[in-house]
Amino acid sequence: MSRAYWNAAAECADAADSRRLHDERLRVQLAYVAAGSRFYQGKFAAAGVDPATVRGVDDLARLPFTEKSELRENQLALPPFGAHIACDPAAVRRVYSTSGTTGRPTYIGLTAHDVGVWREAACRAFWANGLRPGDRVPLVVSPFVVAASYADAFEAIGTSIPIGVNMTDRLVDAFRFGGANSLLCTASYPLHFARALEERGIDPRTLGLRRIMAGGEPGASIPEVRRQIEQTFDCTLMECSGNGDYCAMTWAECEQRQGMHFVGQGIVHPEIIDPESGEPLAIAPGVTGELVVTSLDRECMPLVRFRTRDHVEVTHTDCVCGRTGFGIRIVGRTDDLLIVRGVNVYPAAVRDVVAGFAPRTNGVIEIQLHEAPPKGWEPPVHVKAEHGAAAGDLAALKADIEARLREKLIFRAEVELVAEGSLPRYEYKAKLVRECWHT
Ligand SMILES: [Zn+2]
Repeated sequence: MSRAYWNAAAECADAADSRRLHDERLRVQLAYVAAGSRFYQGKFAAAGVDPATVRGVDDLARLPFTEKSELRENQLALPPFGAHIACDPAAVRRVYSTSGTTGRPTYIGLTAHDVGVWREAACRAFWANGLRPGDRVPLVVSPFVVAASYADAFEAIGTSIPIGVNMTDRLVDAFRFGGANSLLCTASYPLHFARALEERGIDPRTLGLRRIMAGGEPGASIPEVRRQIEQTFDCTLMECSGNGDYCAMTWAECEQRQGMHFVGQGIVHPEIIDPESGEPLAIAPGVTGELVVTSLDRECMPLVRFRTRDHVEVTHTDCVCGRTGFGIRIVGRTDDLLIVRGVNVYPAAVRDVVAGFAPRTNGVIEIQLHEAPPKGWEPPVHVKAEHGAAAGDLAALKADIEARLREKLIFRAEVELVAEGSLPRYEYKAKLVRECWHT
């Protein structure tokens, strides 16, 4: 007999109870941050706010945002943790690094308490995705980020099988001989993995892979992509998401698959803001904006109003599964946004449109900018896209994609179709935009 939730009290709490919990935890967390973090002491003083006047989540808008760039600069000035650390450095038990775009990683410390809290969040998410006792999951996610938190959760629910990255043969063997039946990876990885299997003469459907939990980037929610992956492996694909900065895993689809539920009750508080004005937006189906997250139960590096740069759409606010956390779909990253003649274009949305032509395409794209923005954003934007095995007439496919991009995303593209397998593959987040003037 298996339970329906990892933590029903948290995940199914009614709105008033969730609110009360978040108000209480926020007051405690802010008092802790104000007492222990020199970075936030300075930020609150500069903004002229006394965090003790924040009585609950409705008052959050009085507090300044935290930008990733501030955290990075802080660590450069004061390695390894920066002035935002709020605990005794000797209490740090685990350190993650995240790969920065600037070439130098940033470091995220967790105390023993933090490790437990992140494991709890990941357990709720993977359980919502359908992971159950007896399931075995090879651990292939990048060691850069938060793989250890995922392993903690796999081992709390089922079994983890450490593999490492770029070890395809060991991964294949974990399924063929090690009893693995589930996989956590990015949305772009499964089809890459399928090709690797076919190259080894293995039919992906015979692998015994029953469940793919796809996170880390938009894509898994595109119906055509999902269908193609599920058919290729004869499996179920579920979406989940989190972030190395604020918490490893806090969003996950349930079996209704209508968007990823918030499952971080009592752990982090999410807001959605207008990325331009910074104004908080009311959570309601159809609302889109940038996800902003505040820690509620963190000792080492609590974050206040952290701007994730994830652009999200609220998919639902109630669900027959009984979970009460609202649902989201990730639309794209606000920091790789292109602005083509005043129109916002998310690279992930371009990929979604191209992927919609499957099996004529396989959804792998690269947008090439040949000059620095804003000149480089001038239309037509150069979009390279791999055609699929069933591409048909390439000139017709090119015209069809260009027309649909113009219709759906309101910008003019010059689509260049290239052979399957010719664009770079990424095991972690796919890089959708190449700045060609650098090379
Ligand atoms: Zn649900």
